[in-house]
Amino acid sequence: MIKGKGQGAFVSGFSKKTKVEKLDWISQQFHNPVQALEVLQNYNHSDKELQTLHDEFIENALTNFYMPLGVAPNFNINGTVLTIPMAIEESSVVAAASNAAKFWSTKGGFTATILGTEKVGQVHFMYHGDSQKLHQFFEQHNAALLASTDEITHNMRRRGGGITALSLVDKSDAIADYYQLDVRFETQDAMGANFINSCLEQLATQLKALAAKHPDFSEEEKAIEVVMSILSNYVPNCMVEAAVSCPVNELLPTVEDSKLFAEKFVQAVRIAEVEPFRAVTHNKGIMNGIDAVVMASGNDFRAVAAGIHAHAAASGQYRSLSKAEIKDGIFRFSLSVPLAVGTVGGLIKLHPLVRWCHELMGTPNAQELMQIVAVAGLAQNFAAVKSLVTTGIQQGHMKMHLLNILNQHQATESEKKAAIAHFKDNTVSHHRVANLLAKLRNA
Ligand code: NAD
Repeated sequence: MIKGKGQGAFVSGFSKKTKVEKLDWISQQFHNPVQALEVLQNYNHSDKELQTLHDEFIENALTNFYMPLGVAPNFNINGTVLTIPMAIEESSVVAAASNAAKFWSTKGGFTATILGTEKVGQVHFMYHGDSQKLHQFFEQHNAALLASTDEITHNMRRRGGGITALSLVDKSDAIADYYQLDVRFETQDAMGANFINSCLEQLATQLKALAAKHPDFSEEEKAIEVVMSILSNYVPNCMVEAAVSCPVNELLPTVEDSKLFAEKFVQAVRIAEVEPFRAVTHNKGIMNGIDAVVMASGNDFRAVAAGIHAHAAASGQYRSLSKAEIKDGIFRFSLSVPLAVGTVGGLIKLHPLVRWCHELMGTPNAQELMQIVAVAGLAQNFAAVKSLVTTGIQQGHMKMHLLNILNQHQATESEKKAAIAHFKDNTVSHHRVANLLAKLRNA
């Protein structure tokens, strides 16, 4: 492998350079600077205003990193038909979601229910002294602590949100002298990270100020050390459930196949509940749907993923996020996930394509978006498990991946046409595609 020329190159003040200077410096890190620059410029938007908007999202932006945006139509969610936007690079995901949507559209569709919307933040601090005295101090100053955030929470309270609970948590069993202010929030249509962090930093400042002049504290007790103030991306009380159900006999065209399919499906999900190696891949399939909609909706997919995986491991073992059962002749498949997403804030109202996606989804509020995201996760999981217990995953996956393989071999349009026809009834593999192309080219 030829190593990049840029390995080992230091630069100072890079962020202060103009975009042209940055492009010039970065191109020089490649063996062919002209070509390297061309690649970046090809992805730059010709609309200068739009490009400037993108450039200002992050530091040191050089160009845009494109991700395909697809749509999965025919989702019936709580009786409303929706086309869901999905931003994702993996070939088979949108096709799988669309198949699941169509499958369930004739069986009553998806139901989605909000189980809670509470967000969490913590001020982590060290207090060296009598724990009893700290608790008394907290009881005495609880209201003053909250009042110090009034200005920050004013608009959120007007919207029906704000701080809903503030408590002192003694964590000194885990780390000597470690305590927390545990704060609960309602952030309405915002994911809330910036709002929560601003409240927490204000609470931390007030905590220190009040402790410093608390007459019952010794000098050591007065010197509370705030380690950090930050929201938690683990939101077990900001949950949504998505579900599908229908009589077992109606799952597939014949009663016999339906019964067999339902039983195998339930077994597959049970395996993911008890076997972590399977659970991780099972949940990865769920995240295919969740991430793609979270991304298209302009939300923070890292935050969502971190919270969801914490939930999957909440019992002490990493488990399936979804559940399947057969009861009284009814097949039910459901998914519960914690989801802190917003329909305002971040770049949601700024990014034209994100705005487009929100409009496509009927301009949802945060709770409606939670429901759409969870449904996409369940649909994806249904499609994956259905393939796994019937045809196997590779048949559908490789069919969708065929175009990528053909493009890797620089196939012409007529070669692609011939290959698609050939693989309609044949299993796709890299090797078989290469062989077919060799045959076509020799002929
Ligand atoms: P934000 O601060 O950009 O916008 C939210 C604000 O919108 C609210 O505070 C409120 O003032 C306003 N608003 C207008 N209409 C509203 C309505 N109907 N409901 C609620 N608020 C309304 O965004 P945010 O949601 O506070 O934070 C999200 C951003 O923070 C994301 O971009 C995320 O990537 C980033 N972030 C995440 C983390 C993390 O997850 N750990 C940490 C820091 C930053």
